[in-house]
Amino acid sequence: MDLPPAMRENAGMSCKSSSAGANRSAADLPHLWLPYTQMQTAPFPVEAIRTSGSRITLSDGRELVDGVAAWWTACHGYSHPHIQQALVRQASDMPHVMFGGMVHEPARRLAARLAELLPGDLERTFFTDSGSVAMEVAVKMAVQYHINRGTHGRTKMLSFRGGYHGDTLGMMSICDPEEGMHSLFAGVLPRQILADLPVDDDSTARLEALMDAEGHTVAAIVTEPLVQGAGGMLFHSPDVLQRLRRICDRYGILLILDEIFTGFGRTGTMFACEQAEIVPDIIALSKALTGGTMALAATVARRGVFEAFLSTETGKALMHGPTFMANPLACAVANASLDLFEQEPRLEQVARISAQLQRELEPCRGLPGVKDVRVLGAIGVVELENIADPDVLRRAFVNQGTWIRPFRNIVYLTPAFTISEEDLSLLTASIVTVLRNNA
Ligand SMILES: *Cc1c(COP(=O)(O)O)cnc(C)c1O
Repeated sequence: MDLPPAMRENAGMSCKSSSAGANRSAADLPHLWLPYTQMQTAPFPVEAIRTSGSRITLSDGRELVDGVAAWWTACHGYSHPHIQQALVRQASDMPHVMFGGMVHEPARRLAARLAELLPGDLERTFFTDSGSVAMEVAVKMAVQYHINRGTHGRTKMLSFRGGYHGDTLGMMSICDPEEGMHSLFAGVLPRQILADLPVDDDSTARLEALMDAEGHTVAAIVTEPLVQGAGGMLFHSPDVLQRLRRICDRYGILLILDEIFTGFGRTGTMFACEQAEIVPDIIALSKALTGGTMALAATVARRGVFEAFLSTETGKALMHGPTFMANPLACAVANASLDLFEQEPRLEQVARISAQLQRELEPCRGLPGVKDVRVLGAIGVVELENIADPDVLRRAFVNQGTWIRPFRNIVYLTPAFTISEEDLSLLTASIVTVLRNNA
């Protein structure tokens, strides 16, 4: 078909049948560059036009039950009226104002509420607008903490295989080497220290030996508590965090917990670190902070970390400041999200989802190619021996009326906490069906 480009685009966007576009790739979508996507081979993407609760409506009229909650963010479901009202109210008062030398009530209130919710004396919040940058700030805080206290040479981060902390260059250096593309980007990324999580006596002994040798160069140990998300939804027990806390204390190192995925109820408690009864020195939050409505992230430090930056010397200040820092719309929406955690039984909903996921994903264990089935909080995972082509499975899920995004060798569900029992059953049933048909 020899149409001028503009008309070809229109022809593409108005495809009505579900098989239309099957032969076209993401690269045929003009102008846009999609994340984590080989544009030449990935299928032409579906187009969303509306969201409500746990449902996404597509431009061709189909409705999908959402199993991902917009990359783990939309914990109250989409388009919750309480959140939307807060957004509209704030938009009419003050959508944005700079945060340099000027503060506002939505940010003050949100920071106070986070301090109240978080364990221990985690009480000083620095706002940013993405998880990766919240973690960059955590790393800068940790390095400068030691410098400000007159300790030099502690410049490295110690992080773990399977970890994921974001896509900026700094974060790539502390991600799992494969996830962070350490060989492709060799020479660009700072060199950090990589270890295995101390999950048993052997790995704990190895970590302690590593600390004896190199601990004096380490500013902070960094990990995602209880679940390494993007690394493949790998779970570990709360003891691991207790071991890390002890090691940090012994070697005078800060503990940074990346709760960007686990924060706000996902693992069954408001924050995953509560299950280990430990307090990190710095914690990073984002994803569900605004209930999936606006981009916002928070790096929260303990009192002692903050105090190391107090001085008559301006050089000891924290030198960071995103333009859209503490955006009032985002802060207002995050406050509304916290209201919902107070007013509605979110953690009970997580417990109910957890039990249903256990029950309904269990039959996958018997299917060929299935290696493991595991559930923690509102996270359900079916791990396969391998997935030859995730795009084939993704398309099969769309044809089943569900939005599920397998990656690496896993198929997982991280639904909204408000999902109905029926919709969750549609999600689990589609996994059983698709895995059976594609085995
Ligand atoms: C998503 C995620 C990040 C990165 O957040 P962005 O907002 O995508 O930059 C960092 N750490 C963890 C654990 C995450 O899940």
